[in-house]
Amino acid sequence: MPGIDTTTLQRLDAAHHLHPFNDNAALAKRGTRILTRGEGCYVWDAEGNQLLDAFAGLWCVNVGYGRKELGRVAAHQMDELAYYNSFFQCTTEPTVRLSAKLAELTPHDLNHAFFTNSGSEANDTILRMVRHFWAVQGKPEKFNFISRHDGYHGSTVAGASLGGMKGMHKQGGLPIPGIHHIDPPYWFGDGGEMDEEEYGRVAAKRLEDKILELGPENVAAFIGEPVMGAIGVYIPPRNYWKEIERICRQYDVLLVADEVICGFGRTGNWFAAETFDFRPDVMTLAKGITSGYIPLGAVMFNDRVAEVLATKGGELAHGYTYSGHPVCAAVALENIRILQDEKIIETCRNDTGPYLAEKWKALGEHPLVGEARILGMVGALELVPRKPAREYFPDRGRVGQMCRDFALRSGLILRATNDAMLLSPPLVITKAQVDELAEKTWRALDLTARELGMPTA
Ligand code: PMP
Repeated sequence: MPGIDTTTLQRLDAAHHLHPFNDNAALAKRGTRILTRGEGCYVWDAEGNQLLDAFAGLWCVNVGYGRKELGRVAAHQMDELAYYNSFFQCTTEPTVRLSAKLAELTPHDLNHAFFTNSGSEANDTILRMVRHFWAVQGKPEKFNFISRHDGYHGSTVAGASLGGMKGMHKQGGLPIPGIHHIDPPYWFGDGGEMDEEEYGRVAAKRLEDKILELGPENVAAFIGEPVMGAIGVYIPPRNYWKEIERICRQYDVLLVADEVICGFGRTGNWFAAETFDFRPDVMTLAKGITSGYIPLGAVMFNDRVAEVLATKGGELAHGYTYSGHPVCAAVALENIRILQDEKIIETCRNDTGPYLAEKWKALGEHPLVGEARILGMVGALELVPRKPAREYFPDRGRVGQMCRDFALRSGLILRATNDAMLLSPPLVITKAQVDELAEKTWRALDLTARELGMPTA
């Protein structure tokens, strides 16, 4: 529809488009923002507003917007061979090359890739494949998954069941059977009295307690996000994942790291399993794998799991039309090339990441901020009514939303979950853009505090 005006688009949107994770009636009244263009860390809307995207779309645009190489590679692959499947003893070159590349990049012996279209589908795949892995070894009762309350693992039936979002469980009869949740490591919410080491052990022991309650012979796997993103960027104590790994090994429970947000550089290394120094048996990938330019997810299995599936599993009764789509694979390879050749992750780890951390921590001085937490290029500000008390505003979510809207009006995209402001910029953010981000965030905090009648800084 060339030349269609914004008001008409908004009207058509309200009439015909159901938005994910939205109250669509309320949204129709407010009107949607229509994004038209992106370049580096900025996007522009149909009204011509320039916005600094401190959320990288939805935690995914790691190499930034407007990288023409990705479009060129996609167009080239479409010209050559737009589609072929990996069923019927077939595959395509980009798909094979991407499998090998992921085997090289992911840590330890995660050497085997299964492709999906999204993170949710990847976690559905894991639920089925891991149960199958145990069943074909004569242990069908090793069926139960353990995950965390408030975790996010996607929006499909298995993904939302593995996740621990109560609002999602309320819709559609979830969780499905065989999924059990434990409390997450949430330092701010748990009072913060223990030292980090002790809290890490206490939080990890929740897994051991649950395994013992269910009986280790009945537990297939534990799944978790290394840093819990959607709920509010909960960064676990340094020793948490090592402890989780020790417990999983002790009871022969598979360890699944959902790296949909953390993978491809978000925590300052290629994968958070490196940042926290643990060895997952299975890893979920999506988002940063293509920097969001095209949909793609993947599951990485280690040698042990892949070998059992290959030698005892029989035919894998699972797959998607677009598993290993050649265009998506070609884009992923080019995205990885950019990340590698331009040393984007090294720059985050050694230069822009520490700079961002310093500026983000300084926002913790604001009277409205109870905690400023950050790891690599992912962080949160926990907004509180009274410092230093660790308490929440009544009517959780209202203040976060207010702050988000003030930020947006000054040209900055931040996400709010409850009353935490979430940060996840493109990994290519420059120091000058970090300054802009910090300054605009501070201003949004000030405007929020003023609106609430609280002291401003
Ligand atoms: N796992 C995690 C940790 C996620 O953050 C997400 C998406 N935000 C998913 C899985 C689901 O991915 P998708 O939206 O691509 O299905």
